[in-house]
Formats: sequence, structure tokens, C-alpha cells
Amino acid sequence: MNIIEKRIKSIRNEIKIIAKKYGCDTNRIRLVAVSKNKPIELIQYAILAGQKEFGENYVKEGVEKIYFFSKNYKLIWHFIGQLQSNKSRLVAEYFDWCHTIDRPKIIHRLNVQRPQNLSPLNVLIQVNIDGETNKGGITSNQIFSLAKIIKSCINLQLRGIMCIPTIETNFNKQIINFVKIFKLFKELQYSYSSVDTLSLGMSHDMIAAIAAGSNLLRIGTAIFGSR
Ligand SMILES: *Cc1c(COP(=O)(O)O)cnc(C)c1O
Repeated sequence: MNIIEKRIKSIRNEIKIIAKKYGCDTNRIRLVAVSKNKPIELIQYAILAGQKEFGENYVKEGVEKIYFFSKNYKLIWHFIGQLQSNKSRLVAEYFDWCHTIDRPKIIHRLNVQRPQNLSPLNVLIQVNIDGETNKGGITSNQIFSLAKIIKSCINLQLRGIMCIPTIETNFNKQIINFVKIFKLFKELQYSYSSVDTLSLGMSHDMIAAIAAGSNLLRIGTAIFGSR
């Protein structure tokens, strides 16, 4: 077994144990392997370990990988980076999910640019829960106005909320913000039946994310090593 395969197996196992501890359904937790800055060969190892969902932050790099693997595999690709509007077309044409929806302009562009022969692009509204200025996302009171715009778009499917909270190493501090995010997710889900995904949790805060009710983990370092 190679190192990537070992790590994926051990993370899947860990997810199972944590989910059980907190009474969550393991089968509903998606593991997205974040492969930004990592070469094709490492992704290939992950695929051989049964990994099917991957996350990329940079449009051009992501599209090259998607194109390469599309010849032999059926994979699911998540765009998780900040999206400039002049790059939206490639995301609409190549990716299956976009996690970083934070303004009407991007919503309209992705809707118009999504090819008709593909299923609707799955989108998540990025919420900036702690007001950190160096990252994207909207404040929590703007969620519903964006959700309404997304719902009017025939080529987009509103799936939920994504959040990158401030880096905290302490579980008790992590969970405070995470519970707030889960509440927002539940409020959105109450109004929109297509909402089923909370994208929260990275290598350093995966345990608190599962405990708080996340069902999509974006894991890079713990699978592919440091960048
Ligand atoms: C890089 C990145 C990740 C993965 O982070 P790790 O700490 O390497 O697990 C997850 N989400 C986003 C948005 C990222 O940019």
C-alpha cells in the first residue's frame, strides 16, 4: 500500500469513529480530497485508493487535471477557491460543484455559462462567519438574498453552505463557530429542500466539524502532505 492510500484509509476510518461518537451517519459524510498544488501522480494514487471526489482552488490547474482524468475515470470535481468572474466560464464548463458563491454577478455568469448538456452546477454559498477580511464569503444576514437569486437559476442547484473559519487549534474554540454555522445551514435547509450539504472541516479541524454536523470535509494536507 502506498502512503496516500494508507492516509485515505486511516482518515475514512477516523471519520467513522468520530461520526459514531457524535451520533452522525458516516455514510452521509463526503470526503473531498483537496489536491491543489499536487501533481497528477498523487491524485492517481488517491483514485486507486477508491477516492472519487477532489477539490481544486485554481481554475487553470483544476481544468488541466479534470481534462486529464476524464479520459479514464468518472470523478467529481469541486471548485473551492476564490472565483474571479473572468474565470467563471471554465468552472461552469468543467466542475461539478462550486463552493465559493458570494455575489450575484458570479451566480448569473455561472448560470448562463453552464452547458445545457450537463446537469445543473451544484453550488454552495460561502459564509464568512468571523468577518476575517482576507477571505471571501458573505455575512450571515445575506444568505437568504443570495439563495433566492440562485433558486431562480435553472442551471444551478443550491446545495448548501461552505465556510472556512478562522484557524483555531483548540477543539472547544473551533466548535463555538462551527455550531453557529450549522444553525445557519439548518435555517437555509428549512426554506429550501434542495439544501443538503454543509462544507466545513479541513485537516486541522475535522473532528470539531463532524461533531458540529458537517457532511462534507475538504481534506488536503492529511492526505497529500504539506504544501
Ligand atoms: C487548501 C484548502 C483546504 C484543505 O486544507 P488542509 O488544511 O490542507 O486540509 C480546504 N478548503 C479550502 C477552501 C482550501 O483552500
